[in-house]
Amino acid sequence: MCGRFTFEVCVGILSFLVLAKPSSTVFFEFLGSFRAFVSIPGNEMSGSVNFPNAANALAGSTTNSDKEPVLERREEAEPPKMSKSALKKLRRQQEWEAGREKRAGIRREKKKQKKEERKRKIDAGEKVPSQKKKIREGKITPSEMRVVLDCGFDELMNEKEIASLCQQFTRCHSANRTALHPVELYATDFGGRLEARQEYVLRGQQKNWKRYHPTTNSYLEEFVNEKEKMVYLSADSDETLHELKEDEIYIIGALVDKNRYKNICDEKAKSQGIRTAKLPIGEYIRMSDRKVLTVNHVFEILSLWLEHRDWEKAFLEVIPKRKGLASLDEEESREQSLEQESVSEKAEEAEDEAKTADGVEMPAEKRIKITE
Ligand code: SAH
Repeated sequence: MCGRFTFEVCVGILSFLVLAKPSSTVFFEFLGSFRAFVSIPGNEMSGSVNFPNAANALAGSTTNSDKEPVLERREEAEPPKMSKSALKKLRRQQEWEAGREKRAGIRREKKKQKKEERKRKIDAGEKVPSQKKKIREGKITPSEMRVVLDCGFDELMNEKEIASLCQQFTRCHSANRTALHPVELYATDFGGRLEARQEYVLRGQQKNWKRYHPTTNSYLEEFVNEKEKMVYLSADSDETLHELKEDEIYIIGALVDKNRYKNICDEKAKSQGIRTAKLPIGEYIRMSDRKVLTVNHVFEILSLWLEHRDWEKAFLEVIPKRKGLASLDEEESREQSLEQESVSEKAEEAEDEAKTADGVEMPAEKRIKITE
């Protein structure tokens, strides 16, 4: 009896398929109704396949009229999951973002007032300090030296550290832009959250940065067969760097970690058969604590060494007082360490500066005062 019934059912379905050639939606609906028809207690077909649901799901991707109920059900099933603190954080971010223009306006106004004040003093015959930040004694001569920021540590940092690193990249570029011997600055293994952060903060302006080469390649892929020219800088190295060479490649770990990952760069380089070296800080100056510096400070030291050929001078110009330097009589702005600094107005200001200054690269002789 049961066998005959099943046989008749199969013949029925086949005839329907051959004669009516139904669309997939209609077919599933037909099966759904059919299932309801045969859904009697004890019948093993009942509940075996949920045809009406299959029809709905399919219909959701084919017809518009049937789409809405599916979406409605999903919304009911999955209410938006966001904790109170996440919502609060999002709101704060939105407020900060909304205030961007206003803050820039206030900074512009302050600058204007300062300028007017300066003009007033000059007119009154008062002595005012020179506005020139850097007076060069020669022409800019680019260096062929390559400096790499190794960005292979994206996953090891939290959001704040990524923001800080992003800011340090801007500082590196600013230092390179105003250097007497600008180098070729590479960012290898570039991507992930750092790239997203840079894009978000600088809004594409970094694409105009000269001598800056971000790449998804690792340094080994980017500089094939040049391993023997590489020196990975690390405060944990047993070797000390004494001089920089034009044809060498100096690698800086793009990492902000409050030294959570001690030795990580030294070990990475050694496992790849790359030389490592520390800056000769201890040989020239007294520092009260660990000699681990931020990415931008290391970059600035390299840049200034190329200018002065003197480590002591380079260290004194770059390392902030907060690091416990024995003697430092540098300009005020240098005193503030940029370490672990979160997003702040100060950062926006620096980024403003980077944006306006990098849009067009001016000829070297216009950017600097040549005193011959
Ligand atoms: N824990 C990390 C520290 C990151 S500091 C590490 O294992 O290196 C950021 C980078 O700056 C370092 O990876 C290193 O390349 C460079 N650096 C910092 N201080 C240095 C020093 N005293 N000598 C040489 N390189 C240094």
